[in-house]
Amino acid sequence: MMPDIRHKFIVGNWKMYTTAAEARRLARAVVQGMGIEDRVSVTVCPPFPYLAAVGEILKGSRIALGAQNLYPEREGAFTGEVSTTMLLDLGCRYVILGHSERRHKLGESDTFINKKVQAALTAGLDVILCVGETLGQRNANLTNAVLDRQLIQGLAGVSSDTLMHLSIAYEPVWAIGTHGRHASPEQAEEAHTAIRRRFGQMFGEKSAQTLVIHYGGSVKPGNAAAVLCRQGVDGALIGSASLNADQFLAIVRAGIVDPQTEGNSA
Ligand code: PEP
Repeated sequence: MMPDIRHKFIVGNWKMYTTAAEARRLARAVVQGMGIEDRVSVTVCPPFPYLAAVGEILKGSRIALGAQNLYPEREGAFTGEVSTTMLLDLGCRYVILGHSERRHKLGESDTFINKKVQAALTAGLDVILCVGETLGQRNANLTNAVLDRQLIQGLAGVSSDTLMHLSIAYEPVWAIGTHGRHASPEQAEEAHTAIRRRFGQMFGEKSAQTLVIHYGGSVKPGNAAAVLCRQGVDGALIGSASLNADQFLAIVRAGIVDPQTEGNSA
Protein backbone atom coordinates (compact mmCIF):
# COMPACT_ATOMS: atom_id res chain seq x y z
CA MET A 1 0.00 0.00 0.00
CA MET A 2 1.14 3.54 -0.68
CA PRO A 3 1.65 5.59 2.50
CA ASP A 4 -1.16 7.50 4.20
CA ILE A 5 -2.12 10.47 2.02
CA ARG A 6 -1.44 12.91 4.85
CA HIS A 7 2.13 11.72 5.12
CA LYS A 8 4.66 13.18 2.75
CA PHE A 9 6.56 10.48 0.91
CA ILE A 10 10.28 11.17 0.42
CA VAL A 11 12.33 8.93 -1.89
CA GLY A 12 16.11 8.94 -2.28
CA ASN A 13 17.44 7.92 -5.69
CA TRP A 14 21.14 7.14 -5.28
CA LYS A 15 21.53 6.68 -9.06
CA MET A 16 24.89 5.11 -10.08
CA TYR A 17 26.71 6.44 -7.05
CA THR A 18 28.40 5.01 -3.94
CA THR A 19 30.73 2.12 -3.29
CA ALA A 20 29.51 -0.76 -1.13
CA ALA A 21 31.12 0.81 1.94
CA GLU A 22 29.64 4.24 1.19
CA ALA A 23 26.20 2.74 0.60
CA ARG A 24 26.32 0.98 3.98
CA ARG A 25 27.52 4.14 5.71
CA LEU A 26 24.82 6.25 4.10
CA ALA A 27 22.08 3.74 4.92
CA ARG A 28 23.20 3.52 8.57
CA ALA A 29 23.24 7.30 8.89
CA VAL A 30 19.74 7.65 7.42
CA VAL A 31 18.38 4.89 9.66
CA GLN A 32 19.94 6.51 12.71
CA GLY A 33 18.70 9.97 11.77
CA MET A 34 15.15 8.76 11.14
CA GLY A 35 14.90 6.86 14.41
CA ILE A 36 11.26 6.12 15.16
CA GLU A 37 9.90 9.10 13.19
CA ASP A 38 6.60 8.02 11.68
CA ARG A 39 5.09 11.30 10.41
CA VAL A 40 6.79 10.96 7.06
CA SER A 41 7.38 7.97 4.75
CA VAL A 42 10.88 7.38 3.47
CA THR A 43 12.34 5.03 0.85
CA VAL A 44 15.89 4.76 -0.43
CA CYS A 45 16.82 3.32 -3.82
CA PRO A 46 20.46 2.23 -3.96
CA PRO A 47 22.15 0.77 -7.04
CA PHE A 48 21.30 -2.90 -7.74
CA PRO A 49 24.59 -4.35 -6.40
CA TYR A 50 24.01 -2.80 -2.97
CA LEU A 51 20.32 -3.61 -2.51
CA ALA A 52 21.04 -6.66 -0.35
CA ALA A 53 23.53 -4.89 1.92
CA VAL A 54 21.36 -1.79 2.32
CA GLY A 55 18.26 -3.97 2.81
CA GLU A 56 19.95 -5.64 5.80
CA ILE A 57 20.66 -2.27 7.37
CA LEU A 58 17.09 -1.03 6.80
CA LYS A 59 15.55 -4.09 8.48
CA GLY A 60 13.56 -3.06 11.55
CA SER A 61 13.73 0.64 10.57
CA ARG A 62 10.99 2.85 9.18
CA ILE A 63 12.78 3.18 5.85
CA ALA A 64 11.72 1.08 2.87
CA LEU A 65 13.94 -0.32 0.15
CA GLY A 66 13.42 0.54 -3.50
CA ALA A 67 15.12 -0.24 -6.82
CA GLN A 68 15.86 2.18 -9.65
CA ASN A 69 14.72 -0.03 -12.52
CA LEU A 70 13.73 -3.56 -13.55
CA TYR A 71 13.29 -5.71 -16.62
CA PRO A 72 9.69 -6.70 -17.36
CA GLU A 73 10.12 -10.48 -17.44
CA ARG A 74 10.14 -12.81 -14.46
CA GLU A 75 13.25 -14.67 -15.64
CA GLY A 76 15.00 -15.69 -18.82
CA ALA A 77 17.92 -15.11 -21.15
CA PHE A 78 18.21 -11.36 -20.58
CA THR A 79 21.87 -10.87 -19.83
CA GLY A 80 22.55 -8.12 -17.32
CA GLU A 81 18.92 -7.46 -16.45
CA VAL A 82 17.13 -7.65 -13.10
CA SER A 83 13.62 -9.08 -12.64
CA THR A 84 10.71 -8.31 -10.34
CA THR A 85 11.29 -11.68 -8.67
CA MET A 86 14.87 -10.73 -7.81
CA LEU A 87 13.84 -7.34 -6.43
CA LEU A 88 11.15 -8.89 -4.24
CA ASP A 89 13.62 -11.55 -3.13
CA LEU A 90 15.96 -8.78 -1.95
CA GLY A 91 13.21 -7.12 0.05
CA CYS A 92 12.39 -4.26 -2.32
CA ARG A 93 8.97 -2.76 -1.91
CA TYR A 94 9.28 0.06 -4.44
CA VAL A 95 10.71 0.53 -7.90
CA ILE A 96 11.35 3.78 -9.78
CA LEU A 97 10.31 3.47 -13.44
CA GLY A 98 10.47 5.88 -16.37
CA HIS A 99 13.18 8.08 -14.85
CA SER A 100 14.15 10.79 -17.32
CA GLU A 101 17.76 9.60 -17.37
CA ARG A 102 16.52 6.23 -18.67
CA ARG A 103 14.09 7.90 -21.09
CA HIS A 104 16.58 10.38 -22.51
CA LYS A 105 20.03 8.83 -22.05
CA LEU A 106 19.07 5.17 -22.62
CA GLY A 107 16.21 5.70 -25.06
CA GLU A 108 13.41 4.04 -23.08
CA SER A 109 10.02 4.45 -24.75
CA ASP A 110 6.62 4.89 -23.11
CA THR A 111 5.70 1.43 -24.43
CA PHE A 112 8.69 -0.23 -22.77
CA ILE A 113 8.10 1.70 -19.55
CA ASN A 114 4.47 0.56 -19.64
CA LYS A 115 5.60 -3.08 -19.81
CA LYS A 116 7.73 -2.50 -16.72
CA VAL A 117 4.89 -0.76 -14.87
CA GLN A 118 2.56 -3.65 -15.59
CA ALA A 119 5.16 -6.27 -14.65
CA ALA A 120 5.98 -4.51 -11.37
CA LEU A 121 2.35 -4.04 -10.33
CA THR A 122 1.47 -7.61 -11.27
CA ALA A 123 4.41 -8.91 -9.23
CA GLY A 124 3.37 -6.88 -6.17
CA LEU A 125 5.92 -4.06 -6.25
CA ASP A 126 4.90 -0.45 -5.65
CA VAL A 127 5.73 1.73 -8.65
CA ILE A 128 7.02 5.30 -8.64
CA LEU A 129 6.47 6.37 -12.26
CA CYS A 130 8.48 9.41 -13.33
CA VAL A 131 7.10 11.86 -15.86
CA GLY A 132 8.33 15.26 -16.96
CA GLU A 133 9.02 17.58 -19.84
CA THR A 134 12.31 18.84 -21.31
CA LEU A 135 13.09 22.56 -21.37
CA GLY A 136 12.38 22.68 -25.11
CA GLN A 137 8.98 21.10 -24.55
CA ARG A 138 8.18 23.55 -21.74
CA ASN A 139 9.24 26.52 -23.87
CA ALA A 140 7.05 25.23 -26.71
CA ASN A 141 4.07 25.04 -24.31
CA LEU A 142 4.03 21.27 -24.60
CA THR A 143 4.32 20.46 -20.88
CA ASN A 144 0.76 19.20 -20.45
CA ALA A 145 0.80 17.32 -23.75
CA VAL A 146 3.99 15.51 -22.72
CA LEU A 147 2.67 14.69 -19.25
CA ASP A 148 -0.59 13.42 -20.80
CA ARG A 149 1.28 11.18 -23.23
CA GLN A 150 3.58 9.77 -20.56
CA LEU A 151 0.64 9.06 -18.26
CA ILE A 152 -1.68 7.62 -20.90
CA GLN A 153 0.95 5.40 -22.51
CA GLY A 154 2.84 4.60 -19.33
CA LEU A 155 -0.29 3.50 -17.50
CA ALA A 156 -2.09 1.79 -20.38
CA GLY A 157 -3.77 -1.40 -19.25
CA VAL A 158 -3.11 -0.78 -15.57
CA SER A 159 -5.91 -2.19 -13.47
CA SER A 160 -7.79 0.11 -11.08
CA ASP A 161 -7.24 -2.52 -8.38
CA THR A 162 -3.51 -1.79 -8.34
CA LEU A 163 -3.63 2.01 -8.20
CA MET A 164 -2.90 2.12 -4.47
CA HIS A 165 0.49 0.67 -5.40
CA LEU A 166 1.33 3.50 -7.76
CA SER A 167 2.69 6.99 -7.25
CA ILE A 168 3.78 9.53 -9.85
CA ALA A 169 6.93 11.64 -9.67
CA TYR A 170 6.77 14.90 -11.59
CA GLU A 171 10.36 15.56 -12.60
CA PRO A 172 10.92 18.36 -15.10
CA VAL A 173 14.00 17.19 -17.01
CA TRP A 174 15.49 20.69 -16.98
CA ALA A 175 15.51 20.73 -13.18
CA ILE A 176 17.14 17.34 -12.54
CA GLY A 177 20.72 17.26 -11.36
CA THR A 178 21.22 20.97 -11.71
CA HIS A 179 22.75 23.15 -9.07
CA GLY A 180 20.14 25.71 -8.40
CA ARG A 181 17.61 25.32 -11.20
CA HIS A 182 14.44 23.77 -9.91
CA ALA A 183 10.79 24.27 -10.71
CA SER A 184 9.24 27.06 -8.67
CA PRO A 185 6.66 25.89 -6.13
CA GLU A 186 4.00 27.41 -8.44
CA GLN A 187 5.28 25.47 -11.47
CA ALA A 188 5.35 22.26 -9.44
CA GLU A 189 1.82 22.82 -8.15
CA GLU A 190 0.55 23.60 -11.63
CA ALA A 191 2.05 20.42 -13.10
CA HIS A 192 0.78 18.32 -10.21
CA THR A 193 -2.71 19.68 -10.78
CA ALA A 194 -2.50 18.77 -14.48
CA ILE A 195 -1.27 15.26 -13.63
CA ARG A 196 -4.05 14.74 -11.09
CA ARG A 197 -6.65 16.02 -13.55
CA ARG A 198 -5.48 13.64 -16.28
CA PHE A 199 -5.25 10.76 -13.81
CA GLY A 200 -8.82 11.48 -12.73
CA GLN A 201 -9.97 11.31 -16.34
CA MET A 202 -8.23 7.97 -16.69
CA PHE A 203 -9.11 6.29 -13.41
CA GLY A 204 -11.83 8.36 -11.75
CA GLU A 205 -11.89 11.27 -9.34
CA LYS A 206 -11.56 9.15 -6.20
CA SER A 207 -8.32 7.56 -7.41
CA ALA A 208 -7.01 10.97 -8.43
CA GLN A 209 -7.63 12.41 -4.96
CA THR A 210 -5.66 9.65 -3.24
CA LEU A 211 -2.85 9.58 -5.82
CA VAL A 212 0.55 10.43 -4.32
CA ILE A 213 2.49 12.84 -6.56
CA HIS A 214 6.13 13.60 -5.75
CA TYR A 215 8.10 16.56 -7.06
CA GLY A 216 11.65 15.81 -8.19
CA GLY A 217 14.34 18.12 -9.53
CA SER A 218 17.11 19.66 -7.43
CA VAL A 219 15.24 19.49 -4.14
CA LYS A 220 17.64 20.58 -1.39
CA PRO A 221 17.23 21.38 2.31
CA GLY A 222 16.86 25.06 1.39
CA ASN A 223 13.92 24.67 -1.01
CA ALA A 224 12.22 21.48 0.23
CA ALA A 225 9.73 23.08 2.62
CA ALA A 226 8.55 25.61 0.03
CA VAL A 227 7.68 22.92 -2.51
CA LEU A 228 6.41 20.30 -0.05
CA CYS A 229 3.87 22.68 1.44
CA ARG A 230 2.19 23.32 -1.93
CA GLN A 231 -1.25 21.98 -2.64
CA GLY A 232 -1.04 18.57 -4.30
CA VAL A 233 2.67 18.02 -3.64
CA ASP A 234 2.63 14.78 -1.65
CA GLY A 235 6.32 14.08 -1.52
CA ALA A 236 9.66 14.46 -3.21
CA LEU A 237 12.08 12.36 -5.22
CA ILE A 238 15.61 13.35 -4.31
CA GLY A 239 18.72 12.63 -6.37
CA SER A 240 22.00 14.27 -5.41
CA ALA A 241 20.89 15.49 -1.98
CA SER A 242 19.98 11.90 -1.03
CA LEU A 243 23.69 10.98 -1.18
CA ASN A 244 24.37 13.14 1.85
CA ALA A 245 22.64 11.86 4.99
CA ASP A 246 22.43 15.30 6.65
CA GLN A 247 20.90 16.89 3.56
CA PHE A 248 18.52 14.00 2.96
CA LEU A 249 17.39 14.00 6.59
CA ALA A 250 16.85 17.76 6.49
CA ILE A 251 14.54 17.27 3.49
CA VAL A 252 12.77 14.42 5.29
CA ARG A 253 12.22 16.71 8.28
CA ALA A 254 10.82 19.39 5.97
CA GLY A 255 8.23 16.81 4.94
CA ILE A 256 6.97 16.09 8.44
CA VAL A 257 3.32 16.93 8.73
CA ASP A 258 2.05 17.26 12.24
CA PRO A 259 -1.52 15.90 12.26
CA GLN A 260 -2.42 18.36 15.05
CA THR A 261 -1.61 21.43 12.99
CA GLU A 262 -2.50 20.03 9.56
CA GLY A 263 -6.22 20.49 9.95
CA ASN A 264 -5.79 24.10 11.06
CA SER A 265 -3.91 25.18 7.95
CA ALA A 266 -6.60 24.14 5.46
C1 PEP B 1 16.34 12.46 -9.64
O1 PEP B 1 17.33 11.86 -10.02
O2 PEP B 1 15.24 11.90 -9.68
C2 PEP B 1 16.49 13.82 -9.15
C3 PEP B 1 15.44 14.50 -8.81
O3 PEP B 1 17.79 14.28 -9.07
P1 PEP B 1 18.25 15.67 -8.38
O4 PEP B 1 17.59 15.76 -7.03
O5 PEP B 1 19.74 15.55 -8.28
O6 PEP B 1 17.83 16.76 -9.29
